[in-house]
Amino acid sequence: MPLRAPIMLKIGDFTIWTLCDGYLDVDRQVFFQTKEESGKTRIPVNAFLIDRGKDLILVDTGMGKFFGPNGGELEKKIKEIGRECGEISSVLLTHLHPDHIAGIPLFKNATFFVSEKEFSYWSEEKNLNERNKKYFPFVQKIISSVKERIVQIVPEMSIFPGFKAVEAFGHTPGHVGYFLESRHEKLLFCGDLCTDMQLNCLDRPIAFDADQEQAIASRLKIFHQRDEEGFQILGAHITGFI
Ligand SMILES: [Zn+2]
Repeated sequence: MPLRAPIMLKIGDFTIWTLCDGYLDVDRQVFFQTKEESGKTRIPVNAFLIDRGKDLILVDTGMGKFFGPNGGELEKKIKEIGRECGEISSVLLTHLHPDHIAGIPLFKNATFFVSEKEFSYWSEEKNLNERNKKYFPFVQKIISSVKERIVQIVPEMSIFPGFKAVEAFGHTPGHVGYFLESRHEKLLFCGDLCTDMQLNCLDRPIAFDADQEQAIASRLKIFHQRDEEGFQILGAHITGFI
């Protein structure tokens, strides 16, 4: 299936590209968690490139080939918009699931920003469990391969002028989003706070959430804030923007 072409959006002084790395065919049970549901639902896996004139910033890195042949298109997409992976100086990671970090080795000149809480969760062997055992060693390996280039952050921290991390715990213990603000325009990169399958039902948990109640509370809080303030949202598994 051909992937969506890169989509451009302007927020104040910044140019943002949605780059589709591939897609995942996910069991519908993951989203609906009832016995009546069967079959698969296709969701995109997106990363976002922000051009702020003097440098390039990326939000998440896609899934590489971790889940098979339907991913790993990010490098090609970056080339399609006339840029190179080596030009990216900073990567903001929303969390450390494989579909967000498997592309890390592509970015040899980048510093990787990750929440302190998320980093320590995946660093401690005691957190290996039935749910994450298939990818826990992979996360540890890929993170340790760039450990000298990791900067740990906390929610509400300003990362660069106009960029701020926001707490969105629940999907993973230290999951964060990133607000971008320029010339009174505001956008949230929400990571996995919400997916296509939850847009019309914000209190729907998904089986991938480490803490489903906390994930729902984070989602409702941020979407309420969106309704009050009117910012746009881009998500790794959201088609287009909302
Ligand atoms: Zn994801």
